[in-house]
Amino acid sequence: MRHLFEPRLVNDAFGDPGLYVDFRDERRALLFDLGDITRLPPRKLLRLTHVFVTHAHMDHFSGFDHLLRVVLGRKAQIALTGGPGFVAQVEHKLRAYTWNVVQRYEVALAIDVCEIGVDGGALRARFSSRTGFEREPASTVAPAGDVLHDETVFRVRGRFVDHGIPCLAYAVEEKARVSVGKDRVAALGFETGAWLRELKHAVLTGARGDTPIDVRWRDRGGEHAAVRQVGELTHLVLGVVPGRRIGYVTDLRYGEANVATLSGLLAGVDVLFIESVFLDEDADHAERKHHLTARQAGLIARRVGARAVVPFHHSPRYAGRAAELVAEVNAAWSGAPAPPDS
Ligand SMILES: [Zn+2]
Ligand SMILES: [Zn+2]
Repeated sequence: MRHLFEPRLVNDAFGDPGLYVDFRDERRALLFDLGDITRLPPRKLLRLTHVFVTHAHMDHFSGFDHLLRVVLGRKAQIALTGGPGFVAQVEHKLRAYTWNVVQRYEVALAIDVCEIGVDGGALRARFSSRTGFEREPASTVAPAGDVLHDETVFRVRGRFVDHGIPCLAYAVEEKARVSVGKDRVAALGFETGAWLRELKHAVLTGARGDTPIDVRWRDRGGEHAAVRQVGELTHLVLGVVPGRRIGYVTDLRYGEANVATLSGLLAGVDVLFIESVFLDEDADHAERKHHLTARQAGLIARRVGARAVVPFHHSPRYAGRAAELVAEVNAAWSGAPAPPDS
């Protein structure tokens, strides 16, 4: 089965961090981090529905202006999520400009901002070009656990790691899908209908075998209805296809607390994008800067059981030495089990 989305780093591994997650069958995309995004052409920026920011250091947030300039007057809505102080940070960005003509744009832009607190609560606000981007309060509904965004086919989860400041690590998860054998449905004398959705949901959520399913459909002969149990119908389901899961982890120090947080968020991810800023010979410097070494990134990838690792956010001091950083990540990722608190 085809995957729902395709993730790609915005810049090379020495450039500003950023992950563009493109949906294959829809003109939409997600963006993680908002640093230098000038490599993304306007048509790609216009596809963005949601932007998730890890923290507001310049290399992760200075691209806000570029994004705003591209979407203003062309796009109706965009949602931004970030950590503590994020609503005020977006507001200050917007206040830095003069907006006396913006109300005249044919396509009004609404920026919905969601600020996640370290207590798991959320502060929301809307800024609309119709009002010159005056701040309007929005609902304060808290996220359900670490699920920061939830749609039918995918979700985005986030948890805070320590970077000297709270910084959000993200997981993008395609939800599991079930495939149904249409010929098997026909062999039972049934036809497809809304009841199949109910059956799929029951299978995905692990419902008991005796859970009743109202099998209803309509054809030329009129309405048909029967009640069957999930257990009787499961052979119609050919298989459960697990969704693809992607981790985006950048700007954190190495330590057991951070590793434990990431293990909970990212266990068994298919692809882990993880910062690998310094070589391990500069581990003291990495610690002072609240960043990971390549070896530490590899150890984290190993602990969470990542099936593939993509290192990025290399320090410019290693220009021309990317291969060493990558080799160090891979050695730790594939090597002997890491001591729990190394
Ligand atoms: Zn950074
Ligand atoms: Zn940072």
